[in-house]
Amino acid sequence: MPDHEEKFRKTKVIATIGPACDCAPTLQAMISAGMNVARLNMSHGSLESHASTLQRLRRAAKTLRATLAVMVDTRGREIRIGKLAGGKILLERNQRYCLFDEVRCGDQSGVGTTHPNLSAHVKVGDRVLIDDGQLELIVLSAAAGRIQCRVECGGLLYDNKGVNLPDNAAAYDCLAVSDARELEFAVAHEVEYIAASFTRNADEISAMRAQLQQLGADIPIIAKIENRDGVDNLNSIIAIANGVMVARGDLGVELKMGEGPTIQKRIIRATVSSGKPVITATQMLDSMERNPRPTRAEVSDVANAIFDGTSAVMLSGETAAGSRPVEAVRTMVMLALEAEAGLKQYGYLQQIHPSPSNEITEAVAQAAITMANHLKAAAILALTETGLTSRLISKYRPQCPILAITSSKQVVRRLAMNWGVVAIHYHGGGSDEDKIQFAMSRAAQLGYVRVNDLMILTAGSSHQAGSTNVIRVLSAG
Ligand code: PGA
Ligand code: MN
Repeated sequence: MPDHEEKFRKTKVIATIGPACDCAPTLQAMISAGMNVARLNMSHGSLESHASTLQRLRRAAKTLRATLAVMVDTRGREIRIGKLAGGKILLERNQRYCLFDEVRCGDQSGVGTTHPNLSAHVKVGDRVLIDDGQLELIVLSAAAGRIQCRVECGGLLYDNKGVNLPDNAAAYDCLAVSDARELEFAVAHEVEYIAASFTRNADEISAMRAQLQQLGADIPIIAKIENRDGVDNLNSIIAIANGVMVARGDLGVELKMGEGPTIQKRIIRATVSSGKPVITATQMLDSMERNPRPTRAEVSDVANAIFDGTSAVMLSGETAAGSRPVEAVRTMVMLALEAEAGLKQYGYLQQIHPSPSNEITEAVAQAAITMANHLKAAAILALTETGLTSRLISKYRPQCPILAITSSKQVVRRLAMNWGVVAIHYHGGGSDEDKIQFAMSRAAQLGYVRVNDLMILTAGSSHQAGSTNVIRVLSAG
């Protein structure tokens, strides 16, 4: 086991990279502290700056001989306000404030937005929420490039903040689902995941996948559920995406306040049941952006997401813009380990029993879990080319670590997202028996098994995806 962790952690930790942590020593410290996936948020920074961040990340992981996945988070159909003279202004309740279609520097009377013709789309009475809903405007009139609003909820308005129109899904229709340059960037840099922001339906995921295929790549897509349409179309989205994010920042603003926790549970359960990873994101340790310690409520939030069954927990501003990015990762790791100690008793998914499956790989995964639990195996070793077998084993949340042995380095990095999986790269092109010997000795070397421990092995014919059809019980020699 990595020496920075005393216990084996199953929940994966994702951290967003930004100005507060984007230098080699800090990135290294974050990886050592337990960051499994680094998120590059395309809403901020230039493609050039992201390219150099990526280089720093890969180098840091290489130096530490650590596994790190990179997720490019696309901007998607987002709307932001433009620049403001002085960077911010104060809006008072009931004052009038304008939103302009034209790009111009904002002031006390109004500000532009990134939407090309918002004034043609909004209706009188629509709510315009800015900065994760911190500010709320109500549309009084809209015509010819100018939306006159009344400030319902005032406060400090900062440059470039996000805008949500929870009453008007149609206003997003004319915006591009994704920016081709972001996808080209992700493909050129061979990142492990792409996050599709503001996913509203399965077709958007298919379209992004087709775009990626045109670029000659097959990068797994994480659908971010962050509005009502996304929630309504959840099942068809899960069926087609490679994973899902509960994007609570936007979701919390788009939905009725208080709906979030039940929807979080629904999304997590449905995604885990599909055998795909699910990320719980946003404000998990928000106060750590400013303070050395999280609030008690944040500590509870992290634990509850883990009890809900989340595969990964995500840090955003805490690491991208906060004063203690490394401490935020360290805290998340510690909280995850603490919560996992209660999983058996309080974890919802631990009570779910496998349901009959006529898929061979899935049936093997289920049987492996049952055997591992009954025999109190120290580890499950999954020989897997694409990672599928280990993902399906992860779906049933076994108590012991899942060691995935694959000859693909890309698969090793991708599995950094999956609950309970430790991926190990196998170099040799030897026989299946050689591979099993290698897996057993690595499991012992890494400290996952001791002499006389039992291990459950799943395997199939090498170099053939989806052929897992063997289970063996091994004893550590
Ligand atoms: P964002 O997505 O940070 O890109 O907005 C996550 C969220 O909305 O919660
Ligand atoms: Mn969002």
